[in-house]
Amino acid sequence: MSFSKEVKEELSRQVSSARHCNIAEVAAILSLCGRIIISERNQYSVKIHTENIAVARKSFTLLKKTYNIIAEITIRQNVNLKKSRTYTITVNNHEDAMRVLQSTKLVNEVGDIEENMSVDNIIISNPCCKRAFIRGAFMAAGSISTPEKFYHFEIVCNTMDKATQLSNIINIFQIDSKIVERKKHFVVYIKEGSSIVDILNVMEAHVALMNLENVRILKEMRNLVNRKVNCETANINKTVAAAVKQIEDIKYIRDTCGLSQIPPVLQEMAQVRLDNPDASLKELTGLLSTPVGKSGVNHRLRKLSEIAENLRGRS
Ligand SMILES: [Zn+2]
Repeated sequence: MSFSKEVKEELSRQVSSARHCNIAEVAAILSLCGRIIISERNQYSVKIHTENIAVARKSFTLLKKTYNIIAEITIRQNVNLKKSRTYTITVNNHEDAMRVLQSTKLVNEVGDIEENMSVDNIIISNPCCKRAFIRGAFMAAGSISTPEKFYHFEIVCNTMDKATQLSNIINIFQIDSKIVERKKHFVVYIKEGSSIVDILNVMEAHVALMNLENVRILKEMRNLVNRKVNCETANINKTVAAAVKQIEDIKYIRDTCGLSQIPPVLQEMAQVRLDNPDASLKELTGLLSTPVGKSGVNHRLRKLSEIAENLRGRS
């Protein structure tokens, strides 16, 4: 199951006990994936379309629990490559539909539909209702990428006004959400891993939050190990480059004035270095006839380089 589905599955089972929150959640779902149909005889009905069974289940439960409405469910097998299904939740009865629409303020007292089915901020004035609203919006039009791959959370809105409203509500919880336009839609998105943890917390998807945290810890550990390996590789490269330079200098001395012309300790050092081109400083300390520390070896090698530099300067 994708992470998106996992989160929706978890949220579908979690229904608030407060009526105000449930109304806010229904409002979000209707606003983003609902439709109002008005018959010739001026009878209203409400439809919710979704491809996710968890969203269908949640919508059905919310309607039952908040309004005591048993909605109709129809399932259609789509004839596309994905072979997905579309679930439609319908409230056919005019009075029932009106109760839902008026409580969510999607229509006013005389039955006028709110433009673009935008949700009135009055529905979401309580912090608890704001959480429910975000949850509903995510259920209706949201997705989360699998955290093993990258961090991305988004909710697709059909108008800029809805996206702005949603983004503002998310930002009230100190989460940095942004809006991007994509194919005539307005996408509210969150990128940062820690912000996605926060939004899961706001929506009260606690199991998904734990799973995401586990992935984040693993990722962090892997990054740490990688950084360490990179650092070690860089050090090895530095050591190799230094050795190459030392050998070059020693060969220069040998080929110009001859190694016999330099002090015996340096002669020995030069020979040991030539014989062991891959040895580290520490390994070189053990190869000399009289033991000398790392700094001693380093000092002698530097002396050899100085001699080579002088010789080069003379020629
Ligand atoms: Zn509430």
